Amino acid sequence: MPASANLARVTPPADTRIEPPVDAGLAPVTSLPGVGPALAETLGKLGIERVQDLWFHLPLRYEDRTRITAIRDLVVGESAQVDGVVEAVETGFRYRPQLRVAIGDASRETLVLRFFHFRRQQAQQFAPGMRLRCFGAIRHGQHGLEMVHPQYRILRGEVAVDATLTPIYPVTEGLGQQRLRGVIEKSLVRLPDEALLELVPASLLAPLGLMSLRGALLEVHRPAPGADLDALLAGRHPAQQRLAFEELLAHHLSLKRLRARVRKQHAPALPGDPELEARFLDVLPFALTRAQRRVGEEVARDLGKRVPMLRLVQGDVGSGKTVVAALAALHAIANGHQTALMAPTELLAEQHLRNFRGWFDPLGLEVVWLAGKVTGRARDRALGRLAAGAPVAVGTHALMQEGVAFPRLALAIVDEQHRFGVQQRMALRDKGVAAPQAPRAHGRGRTNEGFLPGYVPHQLVLTATPIPRTLAMSAYADLDVSTLDELPPGRTPVRTVAVANTRRDEVIGRIRAACSEGRQVYWVCTLIEEGLRETSAAGRVGFGGGSRENTLVQAQAAEVAHAQLCAALPDLAVGLVHGRMKPAEKQAAMEAFQDGRTAVLVATTVIEVGVDVPNASLMVIENAERLGLAQLHQLRGRVGRGEAASTCVLLYQPPLSALARQRIETLRETSDGFVIAETDLRLRGPGELLGTRQTGQMAFRIADIVRDAALIPAVQRVGATMLRSHPALSRRLTDRWIGSAGRFAAA
Ligand code: ADP
Ligand code: MG
Repeated sequence: MPASANLARVTPPADTRIEPPVDAGLAPVTSLPGVGPALAETLGKLGIERVQDLWFHLPLRYEDRTRITAIRDLVVGESAQVDGVVEAVETGFRYRPQLRVAIGDASRETLVLRFFHFRRQQAQQFAPGMRLRCFGAIRHGQHGLEMVHPQYRILRGEVAVDATLTPIYPVTEGLGQQRLRGVIEKSLVRLPDEALLELVPASLLAPLGLMSLRGALLEVHRPAPGADLDALLAGRHPAQQRLAFEELLAHHLSLKRLRARVRKQHAPALPGDPELEARFLDVLPFALTRAQRRVGEEVARDLGKRVPMLRLVQGDVGSGKTVVAALAALHAIANGHQTALMAPTELLAEQHLRNFRGWFDPLGLEVVWLAGKVTGRARDRALGRLAAGAPVAVGTHALMQEGVAFPRLALAIVDEQHRFGVQQRMALRDKGVAAPQAPRAHGRGRTNEGFLPGYVPHQLVLTATPIPRTLAMSAYADLDVSTLDELPPGRTPVRTVAVANTRRDEVIGRIRAACSEGRQVYWVCTLIEEGLRETSAAGRVGFGGGSRENTLVQAQAAEVAHAQLCAALPDLAVGLVHGRMKPAEKQAAMEAFQDGRTAVLVATTVIEVGVDVPNASLMVIENAERLGLAQLHQLRGRVGRGEAASTCVLLYQPPLSALARQRIETLRETSDGFVIAETDLRLRGPGELLGTRQTGQMAFRIADIVRDAALIPAVQRVGATMLRSHPALSRRLTDRWIGSAGRFAAA
């Protein structure tokens, strides 16, 4: 046949044919017309280096400028486009300079546009009678509804609305939406045809009935006129679902590969020593709960093997995870190995230190303390003890620093893992890896000298954020999960009441009563300035800035509350702790409360995690309606730790929204962290649950584990086959979606 003969002539020799086709996506961004080194550098800040990074730089959301909303129909919290006539312009100064422009429309309502940053010229361009089109988020203002820093244009004549949704991308300083959109547009021209672009084998993909990757990318970047707007806005468009599937798959593969890589290595087998354990249980002032015994055994089984344990222990606040950690440490101790326990804050680490010393000192076991504030001679001494093989170290990030050496580390325990993230978890683990096997990302080979050659430590992760099963499967795909589903006996459940802010005086009366009985009280300030998220949020990239500002606002709120309480309770010592204080100040405030020298502690949500003061029996949470369920539950878990009946007062600003009412209702009805997590997930979404807003861990581009939970079984099925039969494709897929962040998982 002449056709095949022709083909044969142009087909390259067999040995070069197996080279994969040149992947247009791997070309650097500078290969695109108009992208020079300066722009490339700015793109780099968004993690965009290659052409495919632009393809997969997905819109965070869309703005709907396809319609005009009447002012009367505006909904607080949503973004909208409004046409109106300027009614009044006012520049003034309240706390800071501001420009206010009132506009009205045919619905005969008024909307205020408010600007805090503006040039005189800009203020002068507004004149009554002029028509404006503006777009922004709606919030409550002092005089009705307002938009803060809306986008706007002056209308002259009739101007049509947009025909399609406007994609909004994560941006960075020096690169606006417009410019980024242009660059992405150029990259899309290079999208190869479907066959080359797909990384998931067709045989696995076909049964899922998802749309093609190429079609999906084109649709999300430039929604066609006539596209299903509501589906796109909700993230449920088939194009978004296709991409969400792929992103979840990429994360899943990355975690599974990480797990496989660790499990291929060896850890020292750590069989238990019944005699040592019996002595420990003798020292404990209480008997273990059934759940603690069961989880202890699960951990013990893992530790008995030469395969590194990768286990998560999840349990509600107060379920007694620390003892489980201590039981695990005994295994290492019994075999002459070291254990490191790392907590995310000094506060928590110190608490563990107190517990561990209380339990281990009587057994003659040394517990070394290492935190950021341990410096100079004390630090040298601690390092010396660790180098000499001291059995247990408790501390913070300081444990992972260069120069900290554990010659016999066999067990790494990380508390409250959602504050750390996968990378840090691994950095501690790598402390036990012999230099040549340490992955490059953390490969401070030198500090690892003298470790057990070829061994990695067992890993135990403790988390107080119970999460529903589907979420756990995706968030912790690299870990086995044990659950402490029982609280120690003798706890009286915390009574939860909701009280309107207008009845503050009554609440202060309660505080006085509790303190007169020798009890202590937390007063938690949670002020979150409305609109902050909106103004700072170009999305995930903006979260950091937003939360910094939040810390400031919260700190100010706490200072105000502190002053008020000091005035209202002149006979009581009132302490203060917030995120803006120096670590030493925070520490001092916590210690004073722990020792009972202060009766009332005014705090921000810094106390959310892990603080244990059993004598505290009353907690007041301000602006409770603004917090998510999981967070309220965590906070509430700080009381009800002793014998006294405890109360949690949720102070709210009336009127309550339906959602807030539901949250408060749920809290009053149950103290089961798992029930609360499920409800929270339904009401609010996984971000808050996992604390990703703080850590940026699990920051998905498009997937949403709650919305897309239905995809997870398919992700796991396809993932298993891909790992087994298509390892190279798995790697490319992970690289495509997670890029440099995923490189830690590259074997
Ligand atoms: P969490 O799981 O929140 O980290 P902790 O380990 O801090 O909980 O334990 C909470 C409190 O309960 C501590 O004061 C601890 O000493 C106590 N505790 C732990 N286990 C038991 C038990 N089996 N019986 C009684 N008290 C316990
Ligand atoms: Mg704890």
